[in-house]
Amino acid sequence: MIQIDIEKLSEWHDLHHEKKLEKRYLTLKQIQPFLSGLDNLFKLNKIGESFEGRDIYELIFGAGTTSVFLWTQMHGNESTGTRAFFDLIKFFTEPGEHKWLADHILKECTVYCIPILNPDGAEAYTRVNAQGIDLNRDVLEVKAPESKLLQEMLKKINPQYCFNLHDQRTIFSVAPGHTTATMSFLAPSVDQDRTLTEGRKETMRVIASINEVIQQVIPGRIGRYTDEFYPTATGDNFQKMGHNTILIESGHSKGDYKRKESRRATFLALLEGLRYIGQKDKQIDHSKYFTIPGNEKKYLDIIVKNSMIAGKKSDFGILYIEKLQDGVIVFDPSIDQIGDLTDFNADKIIDGEGLDFVNENDVENWTKNRFN
Ligand SMILES: [Zn+2]
Repeated sequence: MIQIDIEKLSEWHDLHHEKKLEKRYLTLKQIQPFLSGLDNLFKLNKIGESFEGRDIYELIFGAGTTSVFLWTQMHGNESTGTRAFFDLIKFFTEPGEHKWLADHILKECTVYCIPILNPDGAEAYTRVNAQGIDLNRDVLEVKAPESKLLQEMLKKINPQYCFNLHDQRTIFSVAPGHTTATMSFLAPSVDQDRTLTEGRKETMRVIASINEVIQQVIPGRIGRYTDEFYPTATGDNFQKMGHNTILIESGHSKGDYKRKESRRATFLALLEGLRYIGQKDKQIDHSKYFTIPGNEKKYLDIIVKNSMIAGKKSDFGILYIEKLQDGVIVFDPSIDQIGDLTDFNADKIIDGEGLDFVNENDVENWTKNRFN
């Protein structure tokens, strides 16, 4: 079995990633120059339009018999996957000493990609599309034109594997120590009983192989999403239809509000995932998937310890709510919880001894003044 050199690939990413795409706020306009300047390794087609008439494209590369379908930013404000995707595109055009890896994937797989499935949500920096629809919960009703396109493509490609790329919130953590869940994965269930079908095991194998590799760059910071069955979720339904669907959630690392680290980890995860999918003998044991610790919600942006609130000693935890303001993302500090937060972790932990608040409103006002 051929192995990737994770250190050298990380180094490749540090040096050569797409440096014009560093910001979290990422719209169709910003990726268009990259789409029109593609190397002839890639085929580009316009496949349709969003609700507000923005273009949606498919980009195809590789000539292999295993078909893979990948889409990014189905939630408009989750751009880390798109940025990692353009790093991947750059990798195939200038792989340097990793040419064997690029050649292996191009020979074994044909990869169909939709970069930014939800361009209206990307523009408005919202999770939902312009109709207010969550595309990841629209798989049965298909009310959004973007969902319709996704399903038409699925039918046309009939992929063996899918990659569904998302960003997860800062609150997700991994035990022990409640460190950030810098990356999380899910092999979605196909029914309420979470049956281990052969297809689902295949999905688990891909994730297990990715986990082994990226544990080397973000040790202990990889989580596994709950596999509770969501009847209206895209991944669950695609998996049920026989397309092995890998959910990737790029998350937070301490102090890394641009998500540079999870972008690199997502890039590495995609490369290892494609390498593994292209490998003829798939040896890895699917049960290794279950060694990835479950995601928990024990991480906050800021914790203030030991303050007095309405006469009671209490901690409080703050999460930044991201908002688009004049084309820039601002982080608005908001109270997420009040109580005993001993069992939580945060980017910043502050001693609030001596702070005395009349009520929760008072806490909220103090927070806005102090951290804005
Ligand atoms: Zn999402």
